[in-house]
Amino acid sequence: MFHQVIDGALVATAFADVIDPSTGTAFQRSPVASADELDRAVTAARRAQPAWTALDWDAREACLVQLANAIDGEIEWIAALHSMEQGMPYGQSLTFTRLTTARIRLIASFRIADRTIFDDAVRKVVERWHPLGVVAAIAPWNGPLLLGMIKVASALIAGNTIVLKPSELTPLSTLELARLSIGILPDGVFNTIAGGRETGAAMVAHRGFDKISFTGSTATGIAIATQSAPLLRPLTLELGGNDAAILLPDGSIDDLVIAAAQSGFSNCGQFCAAIKRIYAPRHLAEEVGAKLAAAANAFVIASAFVPRATLGPIQNKAQFDKVCAIVADATAAGGRVLSGGAPLDRPGYFFPPTVIADLADGARLVDEEQFGPVIPIVAYDDVNAVIDRVNAGPYGLTGSIWTKDLDRGEALAARLVVGSAAINRHAAFDPHVAFPLIKQSGLGVDYAEYGIRGTMRLQAVTTMKPQAAPLSEPAA
Ligand code: NAD
Repeated sequence: MFHQVIDGALVATAFADVIDPSTGTAFQRSPVASADELDRAVTAARRAQPAWTALDWDAREACLVQLANAIDGEIEWIAALHSMEQGMPYGQSLTFTRLTTARIRLIASFRIADRTIFDDAVRKVVERWHPLGVVAAIAPWNGPLLLGMIKVASALIAGNTIVLKPSELTPLSTLELARLSIGILPDGVFNTIAGGRETGAAMVAHRGFDKISFTGSTATGIAIATQSAPLLRPLTLELGGNDAAILLPDGSIDDLVIAAAQSGFSNCGQFCAAIKRIYAPRHLAEEVGAKLAAAANAFVIASAFVPRATLGPIQNKAQFDKVCAIVADATAAGGRVLSGGAPLDRPGYFFPPTVIADLADGARLVDEEQFGPVIPIVAYDDVNAVIDRVNAGPYGLTGSIWTKDLDRGEALAARLVVGSAAINRHAAFDPHVAFPLIKQSGLGVDYAEYGIRGTMRLQAVTTMKPQAAPLSEPAA
């Protein structure tokens, strides 16, 4: 049985089904937090926070490293749960779980130092960083462990305590991981509660949190921002994207195709930052489509524990239905299917990697976030018009330019209104580098020391030193 962790204890009273996306049927039950359990988690986190903050950074790092070691000790079990609930092939879940523990260790090694601005005979002025207090973290289903634990590690190393809610669609691996934290982290420092939309909304409404850190859809992010406005409470929102990859005439089609298959097809394209549309010079669009279709056809589609599987099902029915509808819209709009194009005729939510050519801006597949294994190829004549069209869209997560002319690539990348731009690579996630969230892709900056500072508050402290003669106050 799976439990929430509240104040160092295992708690579960009400339950909901968890669906196996490779069959579409329930395979487990997960707790659903009551209002009282949410209150108990917040109270425990508030009570535990002063002592956790009072530990120094090294002591907090030691606890987080111990947690990472404990997860590594049960990595096969955690990764298997991740595969069962998320649908990802087991080998890829293992990689993601290893990445999660590596990321916990790395984040725990960062330090945020105070900064002395003046220290002279008259005064000392210091910018001090304090933890915010208690953080509410709400995570999505596309990369449940990694995305949730980045929030946890960033908040905890800074001296905050936390209540984490995984997605109701993929709660189990996170709950198991949290169970391992009992006895490693002091009681109340890391609490998990489970549940869906109502539980998330109850967290956002709860006055016991000092910050909401959310990863998920833009629609939910806007709902959270709206609900949070009266409290003016700090928010980090990591939301959707519709990343464009723009090929220039001299760019490597082969490199672009590899990146598109890795980000746009692997994990069924369920990455926030992934190639979600390709703009190709008109005379190259056919070649790009043919090569991407060949890469699409090379995936072995099967449930997570089939040894040769490289692609599992879409994670849930709502997302599967959305992908089916968006592909139907694309073909109705004149799109030419080069690979895939229809769901597999078997139980579960399997949809083959799909490439659709002959689409233009205005088709849903080009304009919206599909969050599925489907990539449109859009032929263009004028790259300046492409940049303008991409910038006119609502999202601004990441984007890429593919060219051998690095100066031109950098100049075009600088014109893309996105948080992260790359040349000859897409979504170059590096935990040492800022991940800025702009437009309808979010609010705030994550990763590196930015992610940690996002869980802290800045205080300016001025100390006047004793003077032989009184200082005259400047007029206000
Ligand atoms: P979602 O918004 O449906 O759900 C995310 C989480 O929010 C879940 O835990 C859910 O229970 C909770 N939730 C739902 N309604 C809520 C409400 N009203 N108040 C509070 N919490 C609520 O998102 P999803 O479908 O799970 O995730 C997919 C989306 O996440 C995609 O759009 C993807 O691009 C985005 N994403 C963004 C990033 C990023 O870093 N920018 C990373 C991963 C995923």
